[in-house]
Amino acid sequence: MNIHEYQAKAVLAQFGVQVPQGKVAFSVEEAVAAAKELGGKAVVKAQIHAGGRGKAGGVKLAKSIEEVEQHARELLGKTLVTHQTGPEGKVVKRLLIEQLTDIKKEYYIGLVLDRAQGRIVMMASQEGGVEIEEVAAAHPEKIFRETIDPAVGLNPFQARNLAFKLELPKEAINKAVKFMTALYEAFVAKDCSIAEINPLVLTGDNDVLALDAKLNFDDNALFRHKDIVDLRDTDEEDPKEIEASKYDLSYIALDGNIGCMVNGAGLAMATMDTIKYYGGEPANFLDVGGGASEEKVTAAFKIILSDDNVKGILVNIFGGIMKCDVIANGVVNAARQLGLTKPLVVRLEGTNVQQGKDILNQSGLNLVAADSLADAAQKIVGLV
Ligand code: ADP
Ligand code: MG
Repeated sequence: MNIHEYQAKAVLAQFGVQVPQGKVAFSVEEAVAAAKELGGKAVVKAQIHAGGRGKAGGVKLAKSIEEVEQHARELLGKTLVTHQTGPEGKVVKRLLIEQLTDIKKEYYIGLVLDRAQGRIVMMASQEGGVEIEEVAAAHPEKIFRETIDPAVGLNPFQARNLAFKLELPKEAINKAVKFMTALYEAFVAKDCSIAEINPLVLTGDNDVLALDAKLNFDDNALFRHKDIVDLRDTDEEDPKEIEASKYDLSYIALDGNIGCMVNGAGLAMATMDTIKYYGGEPANFLDVGGGASEEKVTAAFKIILSDDNVKGILVNIFGGIMKCDVIANGVVNAARQLGLTKPLVVRLEGTNVQQGKDILNQSGLNLVAADSLADAAQKIVGLV
């Protein structure tokens, strides 16, 4: 799960991470009131679940209340297109009105889970405020790393090591160590999957502040963080993905036109690869899971069909725990309820496969049966 910058800063501040003073605003009036509290000078920052706002005109510096009002009026309701939003962009509904910070230099600090090592890694770079992926690709030597032992946590010497490599002035070293320690504590306590401070800034007074903050949370741990779940902003999510999460379906919308209903994440990935191999484009990733009920299959089918880009559907099920007859009933139910007119290719294998095939064959639906994954992919690509 993702949250907004202002929310991430509030979470981090609870752990002692230094952040600029600021307030969220949902309207121009609230923006003006917040700017008055800050003494007039402020930064107006669009709050969307995407980075790259600065370059796209979503971060505006204001020297007076009038300028804050002007920027707030312009940004609220505007569709911001950044390199992370996709071409459709995101509508700005919230602003962060923040203290204008005197920036001496911008840095990068991030925490990620290194799956190869099975450890959290803190990354730091002097190349802050720019896209870290580009730095990693062109100048990997400019990113410094410390792997953290979970039993010990971030060692002070590791934090000092990073602070020295960033070549921070000596007045700022201890502040940076405190900052990194607090950031790591927040990451662990809140079960984050990513924490990214880009930029971390050194101010004219040699203070160390998080000027931007991105936190992602591990969905599997959200049950123990009600405070974080309360921060969810469904306006920022794909409505199809919200519907899917209600039924506990792993669904991710994509740009193609072939809807996929598959059980098991590995098989779903292989199905997408095979569709692409035969020249098609999947419209989604969908794993209906192991013991899916008929109701869940029906819901999944409806979600796939609610995507107007979908020109045909491929059902690829291996009946292990999941039974082929349950899938078949779900498909038939959904197709009847929705009056399915789009081509449907079905490949079933495994538990109760014959019952499943019988249900589909006797349903009167216009579907094409396939014998293998390659056969199924070629048939649906041909039909769309
Ligand atoms: P994004 O990563 O989405 O572009 P940031 O929050 O990183 O948004 O802001 C972009 C840039 O705007 C920063 O690199 C910094 O130079 C400037 N900026 C952001 N917040 C402030 C602030 N409070 N005071 C001064 N400059 C800021
Ligand atoms: Mg940033």
